[in-house]
Amino acid sequence: MGSVPEVFIGSIDQGTTSSRFLIFNKQGEPVASHQLEFKQIYPQPGWHEHDPEEIVSSVEQCIDGAVKQFETQGHNINTIKAVGITNQRETTVVWNKETGEALYNAIVWTDTRHQGLVRKLKQRLGADKLTDICGLPLSTYPSVGKLLWLIENVDKVKQAYEKGVLAFGTIDTWLVYKLNGGTKRNVFVSDPSNASRTMFMNISTLKYDESLIDFFRIDRTKIAFPKIVHSSDSSAYGSLSSTVLKGVPITGCLGDQSAALVGQKGFTPGLGKNTYGTGSFILYNVGEKPVISTHGLLTTVAFDFGGNSKPMYALEGSIAVAGSSVKFLVDNFGFIESSSKISSLAETVEDNGGVTFVTAFSGLFAPYWIDDARGTIFGITAYTQRGHIARATLEATCFQTKAILVAMEKDSGHKLTELAVDGGMCNSDLTMQTQSDLISIPVKRPAMRETTALGAAIAAGLAVGVWESIDELKVVNTEGVTTFKPAISKEESSSRFARWEKAVEMSKGWAHFG
Ligand code: ADP
Repeated sequence: MGSVPEVFIGSIDQGTTSSRFLIFNKQGEPVASHQLEFKQIYPQPGWHEHDPEEIVSSVEQCIDGAVKQFETQGHNINTIKAVGITNQRETTVVWNKETGEALYNAIVWTDTRHQGLVRKLKQRLGADKLTDICGLPLSTYPSVGKLLWLIENVDKVKQAYEKGVLAFGTIDTWLVYKLNGGTKRNVFVSDPSNASRTMFMNISTLKYDESLIDFFRIDRTKIAFPKIVHSSDSSAYGSLSSTVLKGVPITGCLGDQSAALVGQKGFTPGLGKNTYGTGSFILYNVGEKPVISTHGLLTTVAFDFGGNSKPMYALEGSIAVAGSSVKFLVDNFGFIESSSKISSLAETVEDNGGVTFVTAFSGLFAPYWIDDARGTIFGITAYTQRGHIARATLEATCFQTKAILVAMEKDSGHKLTELAVDGGMCNSDLTMQTQSDLISIPVKRPAMRETTALGAAIAAGLAVGVWESIDELKVVNTEGVTTFKPAISKEESSSRFARWEKAVEMSKGWAHFG
């Protein structure tokens, strides 16, 4: 009897600033990868677009690049059994369903051009009922406002809508469609973790909800919405029709933050993760029933693996400015040459020296949702050094994380027992120790931080039997975990947090002043 050949899973990680392709083995270790940045298009202040064709071609190039590396290591391409996709969420693409031609650039999740439109929607009868149905409050964040803006403002889109040939999709849908060859096979699907970010999906049934679509006055006969299928499915997503992996099935699909939760193995209720990237996103698994927040959080689908398992839900808290505050100190103040030096600067001082920095550059997101706050530094004296500001900058993200965890506890009735972390900013040991001190629970950082890509690989691998069950995955990516334990008393932690809350209060209203 020969030994069982090793099998691998590919993972497309289509993010906001770059596309990547990673190849994982069964132990969840990345063995090859390729990354490409692509163009950020900012036509006007508040507008943010991507070229949808460039998104696809960057993904294709990453696949070819990573596979080349994989083969150089002596692996055989046939051992890659399936491919998963994880992607930036909410970003919206529209195309002509008869020709497959994109009708406008992708409007990115950060885009706020439709602020006025959203303000009007908030006045419409029934606006206060939306969150209970779809889990999201009305804001510029979900896809719906971007789609409505496109139909109202772009002639080509308006015409396609009138003719009934308009197709709408988030990035997962667009990628799956294009990677399958577009109109040739017409694979037009989305998974619930992505569809739950559009505002068209009922969070309980995981189906499009007519009352939501009616509220937005969209005529369903004139626009095609992708079919919502399980996040892990052996046939629904088709297969690659281009690249060296032509013919390999796509069998997993998850929005980026859901994928990170899966990659951190947040499979059961009570587990949570924070991804400290440009912004910071905390997801907390609440189990098989959605919990609608009354404390400023979003309700989202964590994952829906199908088969005998029920979909799992999460409460989500987003922080607009996290790693970008560190970058701000690098780019705007020249405090340090690169983000990785922030900890050393902060360590030149013992503590924050009484400085609190509310990094509300564009208001504060969860759980505060304060539009009119602006970045404010409190407590500056003649004693203040750059090190104090550096510390206060790192602490700002940790305090907001604490505020979100408090809200999650109130909404779910359960207290998180540990926090799994990933993303660029978690490289800072000082930040992670501060985080643990402020939330009074252990913070766990895996050695392998490609958790988002791993999450998509897990979704894909489960569909083709690389892993038979979630139980089998418990051992994946467990090596080299660093645990940061709380090192200050709960009283000390509460008193620091009270100071932060006071600073948040005092930062309000600045945007309207003058
Ligand atoms: P994204 O996926 O959103 O592009 P990443 O997870 O790559 O983000 O994280 C990048 C962010 O992390 C940057 O904003 C950067 O300032 C921050 N960052 C990177 N390394 C460090 C570090 N050692 N300490 C603190 N922040 C860091």
